[in-house]
Amino acid sequence: MGGRRTALAAAVLTVLLISCDRPSSDSAAEKETAATQVASESRERETTDARCAFPTEPETLRTDGSAVLLAWDFPDDAVYSQTVLPVDSAYRAYRTAIRADGADLKHPVSDQPTPQTDDEAELWRNEDINRDLAQTGEAGIIEQITCLDALLFAYQNSRVPQLTQPTEFLASVLRKEVAGQPRLVVVFGAGDEMFPPKTVYGFDVVDEYVAAGWRYSYALHNHTIQQNGERLALGTPALSSSDVQLMRNLVEGTGLESARVTNGFFTYSVSARELDRLRSR
Ligand SMILES: [Zn+2]
Repeated sequence: MGGRRTALAAAVLTVLLISCDRPSSDSAAEKETAATQVASESRERETTDARCAFPTEPETLRTDGSAVLLAWDFPDDAVYSQTVLPVDSAYRAYRTAIRADGADLKHPVSDQPTPQTDDEAELWRNEDINRDLAQTGEAGIIEQITCLDALLFAYQNSRVPQLTQPTEFLASVLRKEVAGQPRLVVVFGAGDEMFPPKTVYGFDVVDEYVAAGWRYSYALHNHTIQQNGERLALGTPALSSSDVQLMRNLVEGTGLESARVTNGFFTYSVSARELDRLRSR
């Protein structure tokens, strides 16, 4: 991926990060159904596994104030793709707070924005379409968070507590067989403000790995907690229209295979091919 494309992707991310955490708009009946079905489902799946851990400390590639760009390089293992959670007290506290508000919903319910202009109304309509395509499974799928994604969420939560200071991170997961063994590289950028600075997006690092024969398996970012009246609500597990634009650029420029959005409980995953079904800016 060339410098121009990296710059474009960075510019797009700035836009997407501003708009990707919009609330959802389920009807009251849908809210009830979702709450009943998913709350019990996710409680049953609260399984920690001591093998779900980073085997090494990350290498610090870059810092920008309190923001960091980090990379891990370690042997791949089946556990990283399984729906088990790391043993992490701060992450458990986050999940406990969400559950205490009855907010551990596969289809989160949160306060509605009030569009101020026709353009805003049109934007929210597009976000609703993307959310609905995610929730119905017409484009991509929403599933329990996997070990690796939970590790990344928990890592950022340990840096900056997500309940009191919501922040977004951006991670790129690359895979390659090295000397007959599958390996994982994870490039992770985050700060302590809501959105990471462009300096830690890490797409330039991804470019270097891809040039060295690594597959760009997926790009993950998180959607932070919202409000549902007095209660907490999970971030929407779906791609915003700006997210879609960025991910399409990464597919074209770097061979990105799939895009993911997590809220610490559930992760939306959509393949490069299915991105065409989603609304883009
Ligand atoms: Zn987003």
